[in-house]
Amino acid sequence: MKAINVVILDDELEILDVCGRLFEDEPFAFLATSDHKEAMRAIEAMDIKVILSDNRMPGILGVEFLRQVKEKRPDVIRVLFTGHADVQLAEDAINKGEVYRFLNKPFDLKQLLMLVREAIEKFDLLRNNQRLAGSIQKRNEELEVLSVKLKNMYDVQKQFTYTVSHELRTPLAAIKSSIDILNTEMPGKLSDEQKMFITGAKSGIDRLARLINDVLDLAKLESGKMAMDLVSVPPAALVQEIVSMQGMVVQEKGLTLETEFGADLPVILVDKDRLAQVFSNLINNAMKFTKEGKITISVSCEDKKNMTFGVRDTGIGITKEDLPKLFKKFQQVGGASQHVGGTGLGLAICKEIVEAHRGRIWVESEFGKGSAFCFTIPVAQAKRILIVDDDPGTLAVLRNVLTATGKYELEMVSDGFLAGQKCNSFKPDLIILDINMPKIDGLEVCARLKSDPETVGIKIVMHSGFSTEQDEKKAREAGADEILRKPIDPKALLAMVEKLI
Ligand code: ADP
Repeated sequence: MKAINVVILDDELEILDVCGRLFEDEPFAFLATSDHKEAMRAIEAMDIKVILSDNRMPGILGVEFLRQVKEKRPDVIRVLFTGHADVQLAEDAINKGEVYRFLNKPFDLKQLLMLVREAIEKFDLLRNNQRLAGSIQKRNEELEVLSVKLKNMYDVQKQFTYTVSHELRTPLAAIKSSIDILNTEMPGKLSDEQKMFITGAKSGIDRLARLINDVLDLAKLESGKMAMDLVSVPPAALVQEIVSMQGMVVQEKGLTLETEFGADLPVILVDKDRLAQVFSNLINNAMKFTKEGKITISVSCEDKKNMTFGVRDTGIGITKEDLPKLFKKFQQVGGASQHVGGTGLGLAICKEIVEAHRGRIWVESEFGKGSAFCFTIPVAQAKRILIVDDDPGTLAVLRNVLTATGKYELEMVSDGFLAGQKCNSFKPDLIILDINMPKIDGLEVCARLKSDPETVGIKIVMHSGFSTEQDEKKAREAGADEILRKPIDPKALLAMVEKLI
């Protein structure tokens, strides 16, 4: 038996009769009625997919009836039969989403049949999509539960690694100091054989200590517990510092350490100690795997967005197959002779540190010729400072002090009205604002900026020859974040700006 999927509502019995014959051979059954209440009951109780309704009927307009159908069963596809006079009404109903299509009476039977088939197809498609969306959502929820479980397990495992490594440190330090004491021969003279065993034990302890430190570093980095102490530094100075620390050791190994600097290198925001750790790992590796030749540290910034550092050597190189393994934990590639003294964690730590700076690290190498380990650090976005002052002398002093740092992007305006406009276009992080200006004074400008939600976050340093505490109090009340006294002390100014942004 065919299921009733279509309702036809019309007060013209002839139309009901025509539809009856038209749909006879279709795969669905239908209900033909001139009673809108009966039609609605069917829609509420059965698996109705399409409703065809006349517009002009006694008791209710078709558009109104279809609007009610939409409220009760929004999934049912609604079709309206109209006369020419109702076209506008039907178009409005379509625009409001109450009617799917309308058909002008007298209608073409073929067209009606096509429309009903299309409407049923649309209904089935929408229902299918809904089911699919429902099952996708269920799957997503299951996945979310699983991923939380996994994360918890991972956290527990990391915490375990961290605790065990930490706990190992104390007894290890005790063993190390006992060995050191034995080595002094204070407790008693050592035979050559005893010395040999003690030297072996010491090198084992040193290796274990390195491993524990690396595991702890990695655990801290991976769990985000190692806070990055970011400061802005010129990259060339950073590399020079590294070279002055490592240059001697490299030379002692009979290698040369060279540097290559690109032009116009902007400042970067880095944790200097952590970056030194990356360089130290890369330079140590380069030394370990290079018998002769040189190590070159390069710095360049071609796209002005990322600083690229490189540590290049003329050493043994790495095979193509080994390259993808390098930054994974506990990976030591090549022969056993290459593993001496290492933990297989150095590059994994470098990767974590670089990624904590939102950079990336990679290696390029030719087996037998050498390797280049490169990493990027995003260039620090210069903070923007707007100076508002009508005195050309003060403007010049402020500009000179701030531009000398190379850290800030500056704009200057000479009156308070222009300050508001500039804030919209320049979007400063900080404003240095004079109090005494013609047209509108600094206090007023400050109060306006601090009461506007668009500009309330901008830090404001007010300056003037404050004569009394009362003046300073007024500036604070207007919303100033800091007060700068005249004559301007460049150091105090820079410290203040650095602190605020
Ligand atoms: P390890 O502390 O054992 O050196 P790393 O993670 O720093 O661990 O390095 C992993 C492996 O990568 C090393 O064991 C070595 O095989 C290879 N490797 C690293 N740097 C170089 C290099 N500059 N030249 C050749 N091989 C290298």
